[in-house]
Amino acid sequence: MRVLLLGGTAEGRALAEALHPGVDVISSLAGRVPDPALPVGSVRIGGFGGIHGLQSWLRQENIDAVVDATHPFAATMTAHAAEACSQAKIPHLVLARPAWDPGPAKVVPSDAEAAKAVENHCYKRVFLTTGRSGTKAFQRGDAWFLIRAVTQPDVDSLPRHHQLLLSRGPYRYDDEVAIMRDHRIDALVTKNSGGDMTRAKLDAAAALHIPVVMVQRPPLPEGVDKVDTVGEAAEWVARQRHN
Ligand code: NAP
Repeated sequence: MRVLLLGGTAEGRALAEALHPGVDVISSLAGRVPDPALPVGSVRIGGFGGIHGLQSWLRQENIDAVVDATHPFAATMTAHAAEACSQAKIPHLVLARPAWDPGPAKVVPSDAEAAKAVENHCYKRVFLTTGRSGTKAFQRGDAWFLIRAVTQPDVDSLPRHHQLLLSRGPYRYDDEVAIMRDHRIDALVTKNSGGDMTRAKLDAAAALHIPVVMVQRPPLPEGVDKVDTVGEAAEWVARQRHN
C-alpha cells in the first residue's frame, strides 16, 4: 500500500510518524519554507503542476490512497487533490484540525474583509498574523502593523507602516502577552488556523482585552471525507489497506 500524504503541518508529520514504517508513505511539502521540519519516511518537495500534474504523478508512483493534511488555508492544493483523486478514483481523505471557537472575535470571510474591519474600527497598532501571503490586503490604510510570518513577505505586498517579525511557532502565552504589550497592540488579526501551536495569541488578546479579527476558513470541496485527528486518519489508512 502506497500513500501520498500532503503535508507541511504538524499533523502531517504526526501522521507520517504513526504510519511509518508499516505503510509506504510519501510526504509532500510545497517547498515554501527554507529548512522545513521534515517528516519521517520518504519526502518529496515542490508543486505537482496543477490537477493534471498531480494525476500523472499519482499514476507514475502507483499511489493507492491520498491523505491531505495541508494547512486549512491551503485551499488550492486541497481542491486539486480532491479533483485529481475523484477523477482517478483514488481514495482520498482530508485531515483538518478543528477550527478555533471564535468567541467574541469579529469573523470575516477574507483578508480583504479583515483589512476593511481594521479601517472601520480605526485600529492603529495591529498584530497581523495571517502569514506572508496575507499582507497585500493591508497595504492601504494608515494603521501600523506588526507582521509575523515564517518567511519574508514580498516587499511590494507590505503596508506602509510596519515592522516584520520573522519567526515560526509554536508560541507561548507569556511571550504573546509580552509582544502585544511591548508593541502597544490594539487589535489582533488572525486566520482561524485551529490547533494548539498558535492559539496562545487568542488567550493573550483576551487577557489584554484586545479585539480580534478572525478570517474564517475556506470551505472544503464538496463531498470530501474529512477527519479531525491524526488517530482517525491512521485508522482510515488502515481500513484502505483491507479494502
Ligand atoms: P495552496 O495555495 O493551497 O497551494 C498552492 C500551490 O502550492 C498548489 O497548487 C501546489 O502547486 C503547491 N502545494 C501546496 N501544498 C503542497 C504540498 N503539500 N505538496 C506539494 N505542493 C503543494 O497552499 P499554500 O497556502 O501556498 O500552502 C503551501 C504549504 O504550506 C501547504 O503544504 C500548507 O500545508 C503549508 N502551510 C500553509 C499555511 C497557510 O496559511 N496557507 C500555513 C502553514 C503551512 P501545484 O499546483 O504545482 O501542485
